[in-house]
Amino acid sequence: MANSIANLDIHAPSDESLDQRRLVLPAGVFDAAGRAHRCVRVRELTGADEEALFDRSSTSTNARRVSEFLARAIESVEGLDEPVDAAFADRMQIGDRDYLLLRLRQMELGDAVHQVVRCPACARRVDVDLSISELPVRRLPEPTATHRVRLAGAELLLRLPTGADQAAVAELALGNPAAANTRLFARLVLDVDGHGPPDEAAVRAWPIALRARLAAWLEANTPGPDLFLELDCPNCQADMSYAFDLDAFFLPSV
Ligand SMILES: [Zn+2]
Repeated sequence: MANSIANLDIHAPSDESLDQRRLVLPAGVFDAAGRAHRCVRVRELTGADEEALFDRSSTSTNARRVSEFLARAIESVEGLDEPVDAAFADRMQIGDRDYLLLRLRQMELGDAVHQVVRCPACARRVDVDLSISELPVRRLPEPTATHRVRLAGAELLLRLPTGADQAAVAELALGNPAAANTRLFARLVLDVDGHGPPDEAAVRAWPIALRARLAAWLEANTPGPDLFLELDCPNCQADMSYAFDLDAFFLPSV
């Protein structure tokens, strides 16, 4: 039972081609028979797609807006005979969704990103330049719909988080991250030591050690782009590492 399932890789898979608008997902989507599908073709985006992504007037969550956007952008998933709509994008894993956003940004607006970030220590503005193509991506060498892991003495069967999971805990996470974890774990864990899926009350009763180990495992193994940028302030040398907000990141620089 391998407790590490993903590889961190900076090289794009050989069957990916941005020119042909053919992308290879870091995790993949599964059909009813449990087969993984990873090759996705994406359309050229228009202003209407951009408006769909940034529509703040609707009451829908960020995760839901990304689903609606991806449903527009994805032309087809190779080998999958299923309509690509927002409900389909909801079921895609978080890292695959992030990966599509990143690559679409790269294809439509270029590889180079310039951001201005304020140093939290000295409050001076710092220019950050990077290439999207150089961001490392965690990929599953052998995608499977579920994963069996042993953590803090318990044997768990679990699946990885999707856009729907993200939407289900988003509001809770703002007020109480621990409660959001409880809800998330109850959604992801399909079995504990052969006793079946835990409900939220059972997950709440878990030892903190198990909850912490599961959070760390998900952090280390969830496929997708690594959006955490390590950075020291050039003025005062303070640590000013930060994670990209993909939502804002997709906006053209003004
Ligand atoms: Zn500084």
